[in-house]
Amino acid sequence: MAILITGGAGYIGSHTMVEFLNAGRELVVVDNFMNSKPEALERVRKITGKDFKFFQVDLLDKEALDKVVRENNIDSCIHFAGLKAVGESCAKPMLYYHNNITGTLNLCEVLAKYGAKRIVFSSSATVYGNPASVPITEDFPLSTTNPYGETKLMIERILKDIYNADNEWSISVLRYFNPIGAHKSGLIGEDPQGIPNNLLPYITQVAAGRRECLSIFGNDYNTPDGTGVRDYIHVVDLARAHLKAIELAETVTGIDYFNIGTGVGYSVLDIVHAYEKATGIKINYKITARRPGDIDECYANPKKAYEVLGWKAENNIEDMCRDSYNWQRQNPNGYDS
Ligand code: NAD
Ligand code: UDP
Repeated sequence: MAILITGGAGYIGSHTMVEFLNAGRELVVVDNFMNSKPEALERVRKITGKDFKFFQVDLLDKEALDKVVRENNIDSCIHFAGLKAVGESCAKPMLYYHNNITGTLNLCEVLAKYGAKRIVFSSSATVYGNPASVPITEDFPLSTTNPYGETKLMIERILKDIYNADNEWSISVLRYFNPIGAHKSGLIGEDPQGIPNNLLPYITQVAAGRRECLSIFGNDYNTPDGTGVRDYIHVVDLARAHLKAIELAETVTGIDYFNIGTGVGYSVLDIVHAYEKATGIKINYKITARRPGDIDECYANPKKAYEVLGWKAENNIEDMCRDSYNWQRQNPNGYDS
């Protein structure tokens, strides 16, 4: 039996594929490359020396998706495919709702049709909105502030209703905190198109000389040094959490939610300093205005993932910075290098 990976060519999908292939799992991958490159899949083959089936399919094309599931002995799915840029989701809400929600409905309908009722879903800490306190546990109230976050929360609710209607499903909702870093080989990593929205890709491009100066969005937050605090997690640790989630889903039915973070909050300035320490490169920065919608602090209590999944993060912040830079150095223009 095989595991269907949607969005496998993306940043987190490609790292997760490596962990699954190395664990001897059979994978069938779909992606439409709307935010990724075929080269990422070649690199996964190179790192692991293992092969998998790939189909260039859009989740919105239900017939094509049906064919993939029908013909490939799929018994479970890890669902990464979706659009993820907060700013773009505010500008193009219909695109986001249609792609993320309709895509997920198509997927769940097809999986149910062929009895593959096991899914791990990529949710996000964004579903906690502006938390009343930190660290965040899974039972915190849920709310969102933008269409992207809304799609994550809606999908969580859809999955709950799917389970309520049919208790044969096994559903793990992983709420990722801030994934960064890259595979130690430097062959796969985050490859944002255009100007990076997120902190680490931006710092990495400053370190590589592709951009002049990091803008730190505000130093008047209610945090120890005034800059925003987040829970950064190495993408390889995050990838490993999916393996644990699938292993659990193979033994129990139900729906459950897990924070996937380290439990440690770092400020933007902490990250700049950690990056400088890990790479020996000075990062130019200036303080600018706050970015609308940003919150003071967001970090996980990851205890449940440890107790139920037997998972915890192993890489520290310097590993994350070093591996980000290693990927950038080896691939100055990402997969186009
Ligand atoms: P990514 O954009 O690198 O990967 C997503 C992949 O899905 C891409 O390869 C894209 O081409 C594909 N895709 C999108 N829509 C598709 C469709 N309709 N049909 C087929 N393929 C489609 O993003 P990522 O960082 O790897 O994130 C993976 C998942 O994790 C996403 O659902 C994202 O929302 C979620 N997530 C990411 C972060 C983060 O910071 N990276 C944080 C929390 C949650
Ligand atoms: N940030 C910043 N400059 C940038 C990008 C991000 O100062 O160019 C800050 C941002 O305000 C937040 C933190 O870095 O406090 C993490 O932002 P990111 O976009 O990476 O993740 P998210 O906002 O989703 O937590």
